[in-house]
Amino acid sequence: VTTLKGRRVALFGLGGSGLATALALAAGGAKVTAWDDNPQSVENAATAGVETGDLRRLDWTGISALVLSPGVPLTHPKPHWSAVLAQAAGVEVIGDVELFARERRAHAPDCPFIAITGTNGKSTTTALIAHILKASGRDMQLGGNIGTAVLTLDPPKAGRFYVVECSSYQIDLAPSLNPSAGILLNLTPDHLDRHGTMQLYADIKERLVAASDTAIVGVDDGFCERIADRIERAGTKVVRISKRNPLADGVYAEGTRLMLAQGGTARPFVDLAGIETLRGAHNAQNAAAAVAACLAVGVDEASIRAGLASFPGLKHRMQPVGRRGEVLFVNDSKATNADAAAPALSSFERIHWIAGGVPKEGGIASLSGFFPRIAKAYLIGEAAPAFAATLGGAVPFALSGTLERAVADAAEDAAQGGGPAAVLLSPACASFDQYKNFEVRGDAFVGHVAALPGVTMLV
Ligand code: ADP
Repeated sequence: VTTLKGRRVALFGLGGSGLATALALAAGGAKVTAWDDNPQSVENAATAGVETGDLRRLDWTGISALVLSPGVPLTHPKPHWSAVLAQAAGVEVIGDVELFARERRAHAPDCPFIAITGTNGKSTTTALIAHILKASGRDMQLGGNIGTAVLTLDPPKAGRFYVVECSSYQIDLAPSLNPSAGILLNLTPDHLDRHGTMQLYADIKERLVAASDTAIVGVDDGFCERIADRIERAGTKVVRISKRNPLADGVYAEGTRLMLAQGGTARPFVDLAGIETLRGAHNAQNAAAAVAACLAVGVDEASIRAGLASFPGLKHRMQPVGRRGEVLFVNDSKATNADAAAPALSSFERIHWIAGGVPKEGGIASLSGFFPRIAKAYLIGEAAPAFAATLGGAVPFALSGTLERAVADAAEDAAQGGGPAAVLLSPACASFDQYKNFEVRGDAFVGHVAALPGVTMLV
């Protein structure tokens, strides 16, 4: 990036994308001083050739900007100390998405830029849009919160499409963000609400769609519904999407069918039934957003339909990984709390449910509405006794202990009943009693499924 060429820049946060940003700034001719609270990250950055220095001892005179890494807060829940120092010195505080937005404005203001945010479904929607664009032969760059730091993508040029997942931190740090199409999927109060910051969180997410040429807003929750009305009144072009209610204008789901509505008239656009990777009402929301975004940036309808149908899905998120007869094996290791397990539990029948790990506050009591769909539960890890107590009497369970054992037990039982069934890892727990992270846990599940006799692997 060359927008800060020749300028002195402070940077805080030297995790993966912070380091990438520091290197990209330096490569573009900025003079960067970078720091992190973790000495190991500082050392790694120095080894990679970044100039490091404690920002508490920095003379802020002549510094053009403080660049904060994604995840380092500017406002919510409270500003990081480096932001406090910069603001006291009158230095602007920005993030990598802001630098990308400036770069785009300077070099290729018309290149299509789709930005995605929301509480849930960001990565799935981002990956789906990227897949549709790529499958239709577009020059496409995918990045942001989903993985690749935006400043390490190929630079903006005419005809190049950007699909960028934005966390609220990144939006907060990007005052001149102006996507061609901005998506706000949903806003649900989570742990943040207990700290009374939900409104602030919602306000930040609203900024992304308010600043978009076309704003695509999921109107299935009250927060987003009000946001759609408010930004529309203020003159933003809004496309509403819904996973459950008919709309006069916008994209909505009617069962598994996505409908395209305009001026009160709706026509079927695509049927998601049979697209295994887009199963469930939550995915109808994600797919509706993807359809609206692709239409907004000029993708033809046939290409959108073809891209939806060939979407390979994301790993560890309700991912079909194997099949044996009528039994489907599903890896939903990303579900690290009860709320995140709900979509999977509502998307299958005759579920042989593998759950457990390190439980979150509240356990699985909130999932009781799904218990009738669960044929049997296989409990693993530290949560097993507590989950057994919640299930007791309502759902048969086995104390399997390990994931390997749970897969073997569940596969055997699921084969017994006859008829379609799912062996579902959707643990509603963190993994770190038994695994390094949810990815390692999901990969272990896939390994155990692959080791079963007679399984056809889908991955
Ligand atoms: P994020 O990137 O926002 O964390 P992901 O696409 O990685 O979201 O999905 C994480 C989990 O959230 C999925 O496994 C699924 O259980 C749930 N989920 C996905 N899309 C939605 C949605 N639109 N609404 C609610 N929950 C969703």
